[in-house]
This record gives sequence, C-alpha cells and structure tokens, in this order.
Amino acid sequence: MGTEHHHPTGPRRLSVAVVGGSLTGPATALLLLQAGFEHVTVYEAVPDARPQTGGLLTVEHSTLDVLDRLGVDQSEFVHVRSERIVHTRIRDGRTETTHRVYPGRYTTWPLLHTALARRLPPAVVHSGHRVTDLRTNHGMPTLHFADGSVSRADVVVFADGRASTGRALLEPDRRMRYAGYVAHRGTAPTVAGLAHFERFEPCPGVQFNVAPLPDGADWTLYLDATPAEYTRLFGASPQRRPFVLPHHVGPEARDHVDVAAAGTLTAAQAAVVHTTTVRTAVAVADIEPPRQMVWPVGDGYAALLGDALAPVRPHTARGVNNGIEQAAGLVAALTQVAKYGADLGGALTGWQRRHLPAAVASVRLGPVIGGRLGLGVGANTRPAPEATVPAIAGSHR
Ligand SMILES: Cc1cc2nc3c(=O)[nH]c(=O)nc-3n(C[C@H](O)[C@H](O)[C@H](O)COP(=O)(O)OP(=O)(O)OC[C@H]3O[C@@H](n4cnc5c(N)ncnc54)[C@H](O)[C@@H]3O)c2cc1C
Repeated sequence: MGTEHHHPTGPRRLSVAVVGGSLTGPATALLLLQAGFEHVTVYEAVPDARPQTGGLLTVEHSTLDVLDRLGVDQSEFVHVRSERIVHTRIRDGRTETTHRVYPGRYTTWPLLHTALARRLPPAVVHSGHRVTDLRTNHGMPTLHFADGSVSRADVVVFADGRASTGRALLEPDRRMRYAGYVAHRGTAPTVAGLAHFERFEPCPGVQFNVAPLPDGADWTLYLDATPAEYTRLFGASPQRRPFVLPHHVGPEARDHVDVAAAGTLTAAQAAVVHTTTVRTAVAVADIEPPRQMVWPVGDGYAALLGDALAPVRPHTARGVNNGIEQAAGLVAALTQVAKYGADLGGALTGWQRRHLPAAVASVRLGPVIGGRLGLGVGANTRPAPEATVPAIAGSHR
C-alpha cells in the first residue's frame, strides 16, 4: 500500500484526450483529474458561446452520486426539489392520473454544463477545436483538427455527442435512422402551479411533457411526421436537419404544432404551447445498438462514451446518465493501469464488458417505449434493430 509507481507508464504518464466539452466530456476530465491524471485535455468544437436556454435533463441516483463525489453540490444544478412524475392518460374516454417517484432529480443542460465546466482548469479545455480525423503517429493515437493542428494521446475518449465524429471514424456503418416522429420543443413563460414533471398521453401517437425550469416551463410535444412532412415543415430531411433551430421553425411548422396542441391537449396545456415564441424540434432517431466501446489505435486506444456511443430516444431518460456512468467506470479502469500497472487493453476490455449491456439496453428500450405510445409506428419507418422488432410488432399491429 502507499506505493504509486508500480509501472513504467506511472500515474503521471498516461495521457488522455477527451473530445467533447458538453456533459460527458467534462465529467470524464474532472474524474481523471481527481484520480491524479495530469495529462488530460478536452477538445470542444464550439467556441465558448453556449446557448443560455436548455430543456430538462433527468439525472439518476447513480449519476448524482458520481457528481457528488466530484464535489458538485446538487444546489448548483438541481433547480426543483421534485422527485415526482405526474402521469395522465386518457383511455376509452376515461382520464387516469398516477403519481410516480422518479429515482433521481431534474436539471437543465445549462445548469449542469456550467457546474462541470467551471471546475475544469482553463488550461485543460481547448475550445474551438473541431476534431476531423484520428490516425496514428509514432504508434500513438493522433487527433487531427479542422485548423490543421494535431494532438497525440495514449487514450482518446470521444464524448462528442449523437453526431459523433469519433463514431463516424471508428464505426462508419452505424448511422442514425429517423424513427418517424418529432419532439417539438419550447420554453414557455412560467406556468402557474407547475411543480413537477407532468406527462400527458391523450391518445396513441401523442405525448406531451411539461416541467418547471428556473425561468419558465420546458415542454415537448411528440408527434408523428413522415420524412416528406418533416421536410415540408423544416426545410430539410430528418437526416440533413436532425436538430431544428428556432430560425428553421417557420409559420407552417408553428401552426402544425399549435393545431395539434389545440386538438389533443387541455386548454391550459395548449396555451403553454401557444404562448411559446421560440420553438425548436428534434427528429427522433435510432441507431444499431453498439457492439463495442473501445478500439485499439496503434499502441493506444480510442473509446466512445455517452451519446457518441449510444444516442438514445428521449423517453428512455438515459442520455446524460449513460455517459457519466461510463465515464466513472472508465476512470476506475484507467486508475488500475496508472496506479497498479494493470494492462491497458485488459482494463479497457473489462470496462466495456461492464458497461456495454446497459448501453445496448437503453438503445433497444427507445423503440419499445415509442411503440407503446403509438409514436413512429407508421409505414414510413422501420422499427429499430433486432430484439425490439417482435415486441413492437406484437403490441402495435
Ligand atoms: C448545447 C447543448 C444543449 C443541450 N440541451 C439539451 C436539453 O435541453 N435536453 C436534453 O435532453 N439534452 C440536451 N442536450 C443533449 C445532452 O447533453 C445529451 O443527450 C446527453 O446529456 C449526453 O451528452 P454528451 O456529452 O455525451 O453529448 P452532447 O451533449 O451531445 O455533447 C457533445 C459535445 O461534443 C462537441 N463536438 C461534437 N463534434 C465534435 C468534434 N468533431 N470535435 C470536437 N468537439 C465536438 C459538441 O459541440 C458538444 O459540445 C444538449 C446538448 C448540447 C451540446
């Protein structure tokens, strides 16, 4: 006990490059720094300017515990004390409301991002660095950037989100596929009396979620749209424009959502939608479940984490949780290498074996939930991968 330098690579020698400075990336870097790694760098494509608005994120206890151990106090990012989901379904004309305890807390992207990013030493973060390629140089994984610069590391961690460059390089065949429905989204002015996450399912093919934000109410209305309808509403196909920014939501798209809200929601809920001036939308999409999380690159390795590895449908509520749980596991494995001389490849394989099943399960869960809600089950979509197909087909055709 007490000896730290068992291995030639030593605790100070293993270098880790993290690609992505949103949530999974900063959490990975902070965990590495806390574990004593000194050669840690975060590369983020977008320069500092970040959107100041952001929708709700659900953070499970496992992830909250990782944040706690990083010294990130919940008061910094948990903006409502609620642990409740109020779920209302209308079936055969009867309204049925249940209250469920959510095993976690609610936060928003800006709150959690800020809480993590402000703890990273400025020298660690390189903003405005867009990764374009991964090659080897003198046996080491080497990142190439849009500005022509390069950077080498023993381990490259891609936490670069659902449109991951890392995934495109390591697994070019795993592509996102439109699931046939859209998450229309907005932040309404404060809604009186809204204290919990509320979910409303008036009929198959419609789900409405609304939850309090620090400065308003975050709502999401899920509605089917064929690829042709999507293109008409947002000016480009779901493949070309998976994230619809406010300036792409024109009068026709606004009307489409307002009419659907008026026709399916309560008057109060429809008013929440109508009063929202800034709107966005996301094309709900699926991907083949991951088969691998780590790849040898020269004498080093590259790994995919978070949305880069397994972008999930929003209903799974696993987005931020997968990435941060994987990051904690990865740093535990790398610590065995750095501190006790464990074999790097073996440690990473063990990490993959522990975390891959959860990532696969959450990718498969999305189409099951979507099918149950009657979303995206139309002829315009192929339900996602293998194991989910019988479940969806069985329950909805
Ligand atoms: C600005 C922003 C706002 C968000 N708001 C919400 C929200 O309101 N509700 C919600 O449910 N989810 C939101 N998300 C998504 C949510 O963060 C993820 O679904 C989940 O938490 C997993 O996070 P992640 O860190 O793995 O990936 P992401 O959050 O997608 O982060 C990936 C990061 O990698 C960077 N990046 C991408 N490509 C490159 C590259 N080639 N080189 C360098 N950097 C690169 C991106 O700029 C981004 O910062 C948001 C994401 C972002 C980036």
